[in-house]
Amino acid sequence: MDQLPSAPIVSQPFKPDSITWSDDNKIAITTANAVQIYTPAVSTKDDKTAIQYRSVTIRCEDQDESARFDTTESQASPFMTSYSVYNGFRCAAWAPANCWNPARCTIAIVTISHKVLIFQEGSAADDSEWNQVEDITPHLGTRKDTMTHILSAAWSKAVIRQDECFGALALGSKSGHITLWSPQLKSEIVFRHPIFDGPNAWITILEWSDWRSDGAGHSAFLIAGASNGRVATVKVDLVGRKLHMTTLDTFFLDDSRIPTLIKITGSSEPGCQLKVAVTKSTSVSVGLFTCEKDGSLNLNHGKWIQRNMQISAYFSGAIWSKDGKYLHLFSSQYTNYSLIIDGFEIKVDEEFTEEIRNRTNKALRTQAYEMAKKVKIESQSNESYRAEIWGLAPSPNGVYFALCYTLSPTIDRDMRESGLDSWCACVLSIEDGATARPMVSQIIHHNLTQCTKVEDLLDLVDYLAVYDAEVGLDKLLFDVKSTLDAQMTEQHDSTFTEHLQSWVDKNPAIYLSQVLVYISEQMKAYTLSTSLSEKAKAQAAKAKHIISGFYIQYILQLLLSCPESQWLALNQQERCNELLIADSVLLWHPQNTELLKSALRVYQRLSEHKIMADSTELEMTSNLLNKKRVSIDANELPPREQCPACKDLISFHSEAVAVCPNGHMWERCQLTKVVLDSPDVRSCPTCSCKIKAPTPAAGIFNNVLVACTNCMYCGSSI
Ligand SMILES: [Zn+2]
Ligand SMILES: [Zn+2]
Repeated sequence: MDQLPSAPIVSQPFKPDSITWSDDNKIAITTANAVQIYTPAVSTKDDKTAIQYRSVTIRCEDQDESARFDTTESQASPFMTSYSVYNGFRCAAWAPANCWNPARCTIAIVTISHKVLIFQEGSAADDSEWNQVEDITPHLGTRKDTMTHILSAAWSKAVIRQDECFGALALGSKSGHITLWSPQLKSEIVFRHPIFDGPNAWITILEWSDWRSDGAGHSAFLIAGASNGRVATVKVDLVGRKLHMTTLDTFFLDDSRIPTLIKITGSSEPGCQLKVAVTKSTSVSVGLFTCEKDGSLNLNHGKWIQRNMQISAYFSGAIWSKDGKYLHLFSSQYTNYSLIIDGFEIKVDEEFTEEIRNRTNKALRTQAYEMAKKVKIESQSNESYRAEIWGLAPSPNGVYFALCYTLSPTIDRDMRESGLDSWCACVLSIEDGATARPMVSQIIHHNLTQCTKVEDLLDLVDYLAVYDAEVGLDKLLFDVKSTLDAQMTEQHDSTFTEHLQSWVDKNPAIYLSQVLVYISEQMKAYTLSTSLSEKAKAQAAKAKHIISGFYIQYILQLLLSCPESQWLALNQQERCNELLIADSVLLWHPQNTELLKSALRVYQRLSEHKIMADSTELEMTSNLLNKKRVSIDANELPPREQCPACKDLISFHSEAVAVCPNGHMWERCQLTKVVLDSPDVRSCPTCSCKIKAPTPAAGIFNNVLVACTNCMYCGSSI
């Protein structure tokens, strides 16, 4: 994914930390007049699968003239200058996943006129539509009260209680108060608590810790930063349907510089440590807090560890490494640092600093080069633009971080003509390749066996393909093979009443198959070695075989569950179809006991009603079940179909094609196995699998065809 070009942003972000990445894998970037939402996703377009960003823009609607203009506010900080007099947005915060019912990706947006609006993803599959679902401003109180003048917002992480997922939205106001609101409690309870006093004590930044289970309920810590430079630690308690806040401590009493970033890592469980990083201009402070049993926070040695970096701009983006050891700080192209805490000192880690600079610069320079090319700058040097970073956000799987940045021309103003000048890019976040690879492999393997949505995995597969093709992909293919081998012998659950799709969803082979098709068809920006691709192809064939058996079982169960009357009413074509399905078990799955048992019952039913003349099939099936035979030859079974061209009989020699004695060749439907003699065929754009199109006529087989809406092997829509 980090090999992707940057995606353009509609307008320029204007303050630090303008980017966040949600639990639902969406990236939001706040600019003065729009919030742009990106979904870095794998999608199939023009018959090719590629990773790309889908993007949606939430634009600001007109706001009250009276609410717009606030002269004092324009002096609030270096980041709210001219924009504050315009219509526009101030900040955005993602709700944690599943805290809304029905579960929908949700974002809270604070406007310049202090409105707090909740937007949600529409029901369209391509998430092209975002709708405002709530305006919570009226719940906050009268507009005349500065307690309702909201400047900052942060949503807590999710806490799972009984059967609901709880999330609280913290809103920081111009009067130094924090207000808590929750979709679970709606307008029922809005808890408000004063944090800072004084006219300049505007809460401009908020950050949550994780939740911990605390006696009767849960609690979390909230760190608040104010425009007078102060930072407070606040404890939030959630008991039953009640929220409560307590200020624990206030820091930076003598340092009036505004905090630009607050980032927390670590755990709030008793005895654990929370690391809080606060940046102010070019300096960074880290507080190491021990979480006490009684719910208090104890700052180690009573002081913050500080360091001033000699750079020309302030820090505008920060992330803690996954293990919490390193703090990566970003400002512009060359002023990015990876810091580590060593005793009571903050040190620059030269190696990781070099690494994070390389990774971000690769994205920035590639884009700068593209822009220079557009305005036909002959120079090959990438120094025609200066990059300014507006924030970073880690991906939910921890493998990437997204950053937003602006490129400003350094030599020629006309270069602005080259198009949009703010961008969003994804960069690998892993500091150490040696620990990253096994982690990525493990996530993929775990997810494959847990039936996670395959789209969520493909960027990880790409990661392995790019950074680790020799070892990682090879190991992944080996893992997939052993999982497939295990499934070959696994017994299928024989509940037959369910819909085909839910039946299919229970088969992990479908996910494995999708990944294998993805690898073997080389549907990505990178070239894989032929041997890897061949290996994947062979395993994809094996996965297809397992899936095919799975569908056969589904159809057999469906036939066996039919009431006698309905079953007797099967027409000629359906009867032939029924025999083909049973025959395919004998021919292609002779070792699968479950399938053989179902086929045997179908043959028995047919002979009981004298539909089948002799007992050849019954004997063959019993012999396979009793291990007296290991396989059946197609010539031993009577032909079931006629050649649509010459009416000669066709034997069942292959699952894929049918050839009549006169050499007419037909493809077979992968789902029902019948000869495809009409142009009404659905063909998979990805793996070219063919499935018969449903007809208006009713009937068991037609119902199965109707229920099959995606390619049975690779999941592509057909
Ligand atoms: Zn023929
Ligand atoms: Zn397919």
